[in-house]
This record gives sequence, C-alpha cells and structure tokens, in this order.
Amino acid sequence: MYSFKGINKSDLTEILVENSFPSFRSDQIFNWVYNNLVIKPDLMRNLPGELQKFLVNNFLMENLKLIKVNKSRDGTSKFLWELNDGERVETVLIPQSKEERFTVCISVQVGCDLGCNFCATGLNGCKRNLTTAEIVDQVWQISRYIDKNNLGELRNVVYMGMGEPFLNYDNLKKSIRIINSEKALNIGSRRITVSTVGIVPKILEFGRDFDQIGLAVSIHSGDNDKRDKLMPINKKYDLNAIKSALKDYYKLTSRRITIEYLMISGFNDSIRDAKKLVDWLGNMNVFINLIPANPVDGLAHKPSPENKIKNFKKYLDNFNIPVQIRASMGEDVTAACGQLRLREE
Ligand code: SF4
Repeated sequence: MYSFKGINKSDLTEILVENSFPSFRSDQIFNWVYNNLVIKPDLMRNLPGELQKFLVNNFLMENLKLIKVNKSRDGTSKFLWELNDGERVETVLIPQSKEERFTVCISVQVGCDLGCNFCATGLNGCKRNLTTAEIVDQVWQISRYIDKNNLGELRNVVYMGMGEPFLNYDNLKKSIRIINSEKALNIGSRRITVSTVGIVPKILEFGRDFDQIGLAVSIHSGDNDKRDKLMPINKKYDLNAIKSALKDYYKLTSRRITIEYLMISGFNDSIRDAKKLVDWLGNMNVFINLIPANPVDGLAHKPSPENKIKNFKKYLDNFNIPVQIRASMGEDVTAACGQLRLREE
C-alpha cells in the first residue's frame, strides 16, 4: 500500500505506467488531490472506474485522523491528530497580522529525544519519526480546513512543531519537495522555514539541498554554560560549532538566518545576556525573533516581563541587529509545542 501524500508526481506516474495506466492520469489525480482537495477516488470524475478501483486498493489517501481542535482567543488553532498506529501529533495554525493569511507549524517526530528543558514535547522522548506522508498530510489537512471554513490563504509553512527536523532528514527533504512542488501543495520556497536546535552536520547539507528554503536556529542563549542547562544538545553541538556551520551555510546560500531566542524570566533576559548574544553573533547576517516563553504544565520557567524583553531588544537595536518581538500565540490553548498531546494523554 502506498501513502499518497508521501509520493511526488513522477513517482505516481511511474506506478501508473507500471500498472498499464497512461502517464497523463497522474496529472489528473494530483489535480484532484492538491488543487481540488478531493481524496476519494470515486469523486475523481474524469478517471475511469478501473483506475478509481486501483487507487482504492493500492493507496492510503489520508494519514491523520483529527482528534481535537482547540481554538484560541487570538485566532490560533491547535490540531491534535491520531496516526494509523495510534500515536498522536500536533499542528498549529497561526493567523498572520494581515487578515486571512495563515502560517502552519508542523511536526516531524512523535515526541523528541533532545529534552530541552522548556519544552513539553521532549518530556517523554521520541517514539518515532513521522513519515513523509504524515508530514505532508498536516499541510494538506490544514489547507482543506482553511478552504472548507473559507478562512483565506495558507501562506507559510514552518517546521517548528514536535521533534527536530534534522533528525528526520530524509522525510524532511521529501516532504519539502512535495509541499513546495507546483503540482502538489505549491507553497513557495521562500515561504517555507525549517527550524533546528543546531544539528551541526546537517546545516551545510541542508544549505546544499535547499538554498532557497529558510533556516531558523533556536539559540536561546549566547552563553554555553546557560545553553547547556537549557538544551542538553549543546554539549554535543555548542555555540562555537553552530556558528562555524552557520557561517559556511551563509557562504553557500547567502540567505539570512533567523535566530530564535526564547525569553525566560530571570534566566536569559538580562542586558548581560543580550551582550553575550551580540558577542556570539559577531558579524553574522541574522534576523532575531525574541519570543516570550510559553508556560508549560510541570515545567518551572516563566515568560520574561514585557519591560525586560523591550530592554533586551533596545540593546540589540544599538548594534543595528534586525530584531522583532514575536507575540506568544495561543497560550489559552496550550500552544507550546507538545502540550496538547501531553494533556490529552
Ligand atoms: S524544543 Fe524542539 S528539539 Fe527541543 S525538546 Fe522540544 S521538540 Fe525537541
């Protein structure tokens, strides 16, 4: 059985031709699935009955069953899905400041082994990687949700949900190709961003594979001792190693890198911390997002107060570093990654 959302159009053409169907049928099927958002073969009216039957018998058209949607007052919606083996993952739909435009934040693993100490996803380890189809289906299901509810347009896809994308690299790669393909979900390269904690050996490889896709790196501290405490992966790939990989990445792609910096009250939000960050950045071409930490059940950290975040930003402004304070979205619907799944379990 093939998972439809895990294959690209040329794979489908090959399968059809091998089974004595004409190659042009793959265009028609992709058009039904990705343009018309129709997945039931018997509704694909321009296909002969024999091909409809072939699709029913050989293709799994959906990989996610919706368990719950939590809607926040600020317009954020959090989706909890069940996979075919009973595991659960989350996807978050976030409205942009321009009305009727949305960003979807997708997951790549069931849980995560990296154990960052501010993150609900890391609390129970990683059960498994998501397949290409399970990753793509999140974007497809959200596109259909937006379409059905007449909400507007899906503009951006960010790989920033559950799990570390660079630890599921093959499926990350294949899913980007399908999400980006004009024949499939057709989200432009510049509207796709992959966020990593800094899995150093993959940074340059990613730049080679996708020089137009955005890269965001979660740094959260310019001080190795503090970062060790927040993110155990720093003991393997520390700030020096990450910086050197980012410099190589920039040389290759000339793409500005987004630095994610979670503002945690009393931990990494002082002017001293801002100075450490500036020192670490040196002359790298970056854009910084300061994000007030989302509170997580069972974890002690709290978001920094507004004035601390503003002072931190002001310090960075002195060095002409492009920086924005990103609103913390969906707090009332447990939008911090992994929380809804944990609560439901
Ligand atoms: S923040 Fe990302 S890398 Fe860290 S534990 Fe959570 S999911 Fe894993």
